[in-house]
Amino acid sequence: MTDTAEFQASSEVQAQSSEPPSDEPRPRRRPALSPSRAADFKQCPLLYRFRAVDRLPETPSRAQVRGTVVHAVLERLFHLPAGERLPAKARELVEPVWAELSTTEPELSTLFESPDDPELARWLESAGALLDTYFTLEDPSRFEPAACEQLVETETESGLLLRGYVDRLDIAPTGQVRVIDYKTGAAPRQVAEARALFQMKFYALVLLMTRGEVPTQLRLMYLADGEALTYRPDEPELRRFERTLDAIWTAILRAGRSGDFRPNKSRLCDWCSHKPLCPAFGGTPPDYPGWPDPEALNDPGKPGESDI
Ligand code: SF4
Repeated sequence: MTDTAEFQASSEVQAQSSEPPSDEPRPRRRPALSPSRAADFKQCPLLYRFRAVDRLPETPSRAQVRGTVVHAVLERLFHLPAGERLPAKARELVEPVWAELSTTEPELSTLFESPDDPELARWLESAGALLDTYFTLEDPSRFEPAACEQLVETETESGLLLRGYVDRLDIAPTGQVRVIDYKTGAAPRQVAEARALFQMKFYALVLLMTRGEVPTQLRLMYLADGEALTYRPDEPELRRFERTLDAIWTAILRAGRSGDFRPNKSRLCDWCSHKPLCPAFGGTPPDYPGWPDPEALNDPGKPGESDI
């Protein structure tokens, strides 16, 4: 199969998204597991606790914010007519997207000393370079995606709610589904790959359960080095993965009841914001606040959030 040729047209995706607007008081929502939080727990239970239970603030790095900008530019690019999806247009979108992001999230402006900071100019240029690399991987003028930054959710047979954002879905005229994930992170590819595949299997399972068929391709596009990884899941593997997610959720609930979230040192600790509080590095975590309200565990994460 050629990666792009079979996805040059699309139909509407049947992903489930937001609830209909209503004046009725919103019913309390059940906790949901997102791929980011499930991967956090699998990587390090204490990291899950810091993020999902303590909800400790994290200052995003320049690399993480650049990833957010690049994801937003690519989303906007696909809103343009196909003939306008060109490298120069993508570069043109970088500054306005950054200006909007730093206005809606003013704390991000502290990443740079001032709008004239030469570091800012270099950083914007590096976002442009990632976008240039994107165009070496595919030609976005040759197909229409079915959805970008799509919220998808489903429930496993055991009743666990799964929820997350897919960077992009392509659906071929034959009905074949391709899931795309852009990776812009600074972590070496080998370090980020296991986490990325976990995330992609999560989306593949959600799509299997909502559409009734296994996505044909899961495609990771590494914009830092211009490489792509294509993975073709099968149903038995995704059903096993469903059981893995159920087991992770059971382990999360067990740890939540006892407060016993253990640190698990790995190379990914280099990207952890909470090292100073981590006992594995001589720190002391805050007192355990107890298991949170289910609503607090309903966060699907943000587009591109797990992109390290
Ligand atoms: S520093 Fe490493 S071991 Fe400690 S909480 Fe972060 S990811 Fe876990």
